[in-house]
Amino acid sequence: MKTWIPDARNFAYLRWPKVEALPKDSTLLVLPTAAIEQHGHHLPLATDTLINNLLLGKALERLPADLPVYALQPICYGKSNEHIGFPGTLSVSAATFMALVRDIGASVSAAGFKRLVLYNTHGGNASLVDVMARDLRAEFGLRTFALYGSGGISFEGLSEQEKAYGFHAGEVETAFLLSAIPELVDTAAYTMNYIAQVDKPELLRPENAAATFAWLTRDIAESGVMGDPRPATAENGARWVEQAATRIAAALEAMARYENLYRP
Ligand SMILES: [Zn+2]
Repeated sequence: MKTWIPDARNFAYLRWPKVEALPKDSTLLVLPTAAIEQHGHHLPLATDTLINNLLLGKALERLPADLPVYALQPICYGKSNEHIGFPGTLSVSAATFMALVRDIGASVSAAGFKRLVLYNTHGGNASLVDVMARDLRAEFGLRTFALYGSGGISFEGLSEQEKAYGFHAGEVETAFLLSAIPELVDTAAYTMNYIAQVDKPELLRPENAAATFAWLTRDIAESGVMGDPRPATAENGARWVEQAATRIAAALEAMARYENLYRP
């Protein structure tokens, strides 16, 4: 798969004596978690994995050269059973996903490392990443961190409707890919679909509410898209990539330097 991770930050490119010589207390390892799953008619299956790699790669470029931060190879397969029934979706169970994260955490700990980030860009993995960040802390004493999506940028230029309900193959994901790898976007195949309206508050919502219903994509989005890709532009995508990379780089630097202030 295409990668934007700088070679010097790619853990799998190291030889073992170099790994042995890394400063174990301060080195920060980043484990990307993503998905291979349907993204509508117009985006590739690897969209979440590509976006993860793009944003992380651009963030790593920004770090001070002497800060020891390395990207592990991603877990490309995620818990994607919400997209079951769409050809190309390759999903693992929650138990498999958590076992894999746990075993990589065990290996990282056995090698003497102390700091691990789970960087997730697929919504279906998010609750599992929360669980595993705490479990790895408890089981191995690792300083674990969780980092999500675009690092909390505000996506200026995006409508309130798209911000709330454009969460799968919508404007943001389409713009990211248009900016970085446009040959994988079929701009003639856009479909749009909103599963709720921000200005019509209903008690039960699929996401972002106190009361929700569990959904499968096939129940609510025939084309597989949740959002509107049509306004996406490469220019907005490039701007959002820059902003996200800056935020993610700042978060990684804070994680690399983090000390427990509550119990010095
Ligand atoms: Zn996605």
